[in-house]
Amino acid sequence: MPDGYVVNDKRFAALTVASEKLQKLWTGGIWAEGPVYVAKGDYVLWSDIPNDRLLRWSAKDGASVYKKPCGHMNGHTLDRQGAVISCEHGNRRVSRMAADGSVVTVVDRYKGKRLNSPNDVVVKSDGTIWFTDPPYGILSDHEGHKSESELGKNYVFRFDPKSGDLRIVADDFDKPNGICFSPDEKKVYIADTGASHTKNGPHHIRVFDVVNGEKLANGKLFADINPGMADGLRVDTNGNVWTSAGDGIHVYTPAAELIGKLLVPEVVANLTFGGSRKDTLFITATTSLYSIKVNATGAQTP
Ligand code: MG
Repeated sequence: MPDGYVVNDKRFAALTVASEKLQKLWTGGIWAEGPVYVAKGDYVLWSDIPNDRLLRWSAKDGASVYKKPCGHMNGHTLDRQGAVISCEHGNRRVSRMAADGSVVTVVDRYKGKRLNSPNDVVVKSDGTIWFTDPPYGILSDHEGHKSESELGKNYVFRFDPKSGDLRIVADDFDKPNGICFSPDEKKVYIADTGASHTKNGPHHIRVFDVVNGEKLANGKLFADINPGMADGLRVDTNGNVWTSAGDGIHVYTPAAELIGKLLVPEVVANLTFGGSRKDTLFITATTSLYSIKVNATGAQTP
């Protein structure tokens, strides 16, 4: 599969820098996931889930192991204080990492029952933590520890760290996965990767209205992803949706038009915008971490 761009619409060409080529920053993982850019230190953290390690890359220091074991971490984001929030398959929790690398539980149970294996997470501007809870970390020992689901379903949750309130915001996903708000937080995009284990299962992104900052309504199909699935996704400041797919990154307008693709030579799991101007994509793709500068600015929380 070649590197490069597939331009369906000139609006996509305007989001790229034609002279920029995909850079492979690191390789040697089994399943790279969950990239997050930490502006305070100008570095990227990401997970290599089967190897139970959290990795770190910076232009200054290159790549190194940041934490191992790490509870089979998967997705990450930053909270409003700039702390890393992590989904952990192994410990079946969402956690918060202090600047010294120590980790504390944010939430690990719903009504007394253990979560399945939190997968991906985003923090809203009001500080609430929204995350998906499919069973990938308990289906086998490959990405966590094989266990029964105590919840019996795969929910999308909203957690309020101020009150400790954990509530279900969506209960009709097969395997909810990547999650991302629109820049104005009036909508939320959530991927369903049910096709990973179910023939003809979902490999799509749904979009919902966010009502009063705490409920979801009017859920509808946003895009079917082909080839592959939308594991992780991010939006830019213009509301375009940049999603992982089997052949790279696909870019959709807020009106769900597929305007182009950034091809990556390995199956992409996830991406984030980073760099001091949030105009560099950091991409976790199977065994490797890639980056490329684009003409778009990431809109995720700081
Ligand atoms: Mg994921």
